[in-house]
Amino acid sequence: MVQGEADLVWEPLLRDWQDGKLKQIYKADKLHDLKGLPRPRHELLKLNKYLFKAVPVQASRGCPYRCSFCEIPVFYNGSYRTRPIEEIVEEIKQVMQVTGFRRFQFIDDQITGKHKFAKELFRALAPLKIRFSCLWTVNSNHDEEMLELAAKAGVFHVNIGVDRSARTACCR
Ligand code: SF4
Repeated sequence: MVQGEADLVWEPLLRDWQDGKLKQIYKADKLHDLKGLPRPRHELLKLNKYLFKAVPVQASRGCPYRCSFCEIPVFYNGSYRTRPIEEIVEEIKQVMQVTGFRRFQFIDDQITGKHKFAKELFRALAPLKIRFSCLWTVNSNHDEEMLELAAKAGVFHVNIGVDRSARTACCR
């Protein structure tokens, strides 16, 4: 069993498995800083077999907000981490090169946890001419500059959840 994020324990787990020394529990004692994450082998995906043809990619993890009904702040202890933008761009370029796909799904818990980061990311994505889907919080809709940058970057779909009991509107 892996407890916490797999990034820091996956390699030792695989080594132990190869050596026939698998342990019961592999526990990550800290969160990954999201720098230098290994790139998924997108060329192995049979994307034509999926109904929703968008390649998953991640720019951030966690959320700085604390909606009472949501598990994300609990799971990540209230942290919000972002990947280096140049690494995200390089990964997307590589995906386009090996798969020919230009549609992406940002699987972030919510991509606009830091508006400054989101704006920089959207600026960096614009020249790539991709289309993408993501989740963000409703307060992002009041930031005109960010909406414009997201549109130029190729956003075509945003998930925004509305929770009536909590009288708030969030991304989940
Ligand atoms: S619902 Fe969305 S905005 Fe609220 S805490 Fe969860 S991830 Fe963050």
